Amino acid sequence: MPHPPTPPSRRRRALFGVLLPALLALAAVACGRPGSPPVKGPKAADLPSYPVAKNFSLPESPTWTAAKRRGRLVIGVKEDQPFLGERDPASGAYSGFDIEIAKMTAAALGFPEHAVTFRTVASANRETALQNGQIDLYVGTYTINAKRRRQVGFAGPYYLAGQSLLVRSDEHDIHGPQDLAGKRVCSAAGSTPYQRIAAEYPGAVLVAYDTYSVCVDNLLTYQVDAVTTDDAILLGYAAKVPDQLKVVGPPFSKEPYGIGVRRDDDALRFAVDDALAAAERNGTWQKAYQATLGVSGVPAPKPPPIDRYPAG
Ligand code: GLU
Repeated sequence: MPHPPTPPSRRRRALFGVLLPALLALAAVACGRPGSPPVKGPKAADLPSYPVAKNFSLPESPTWTAAKRRGRLVIGVKEDQPFLGERDPASGAYSGFDIEIAKMTAAALGFPEHAVTFRTVASANRETALQNGQIDLYVGTYTINAKRRRQVGFAGPYYLAGQSLLVRSDEHDIHGPQDLAGKRVCSAAGSTPYQRIAAEYPGAVLVAYDTYSVCVDNLLTYQVDAVTTDDAILLGYAAKVPDQLKVVGPPFSKEPYGIGVRRDDDALRFAVDDALAAAERNGTWQKAYQATLGVSGVPAPKPPPIDRYPAG
């Protein structure tokens, strides 16, 4: 669903989710050209396997207890963010760095992959989905900040991204957020990048959609001049159609990614912190990164320190 201030025209609505997948398919055909980035998902052989914790039990966690009883862990994710959280429309399978972090976490909590259900939840709906129990955990480029921490709990962070800008390759006037006055800038409703542009760059003409892929469709068809969100997300879109899109300027914020849990479930939050710490220690985190985000050529960074803030 589009959001104010700029509702899409019929024509733009018709492009929803059509143009970018088509371009991605074209890019897949072009794969193999020297220097072109890999456009398929990670090779199964490169992905880590996650040993399922035996006899794991967390009775103090209401979320874990309910999931165990139902026999499934439901994890909220993104489905249109290349190398992070992507859903193959043919098979329905999800892949990407966030998906690997989710599978690793599930295994540490005693849930094998076949007992995990992924559910796509857009940026604006994450807090509500956690609060009303639609999902048990959320793993999807979810920035930890003070405002959100009043509504949900965050394990991690497990990755540090930064806000950046995606423009068309033929754009020469936009080099950073200081150049956005009078430009049409698209981001996802409810996201921190949207809020930052609204608060700090009031000259920009903001356009909001539920997802970044719709923003990218709008960029490719000259309906907007830039898309803004985290560099990790934008680099994925640019890598899929490098002839048409580029990421410009250095990142201008810090976006530490956390795993969302219900605010009152400290037991689950601490268990997920433990799972992340173990994966970072034993090399699983690094392997997951290399097989997903790392295929863009950026070597594995050092994961940010985990913020195990006190219960309550
Ligand atoms: N990390 C930012 C956020 O949590 C932007 C990415 C997203 O919308 O998921 O709002």
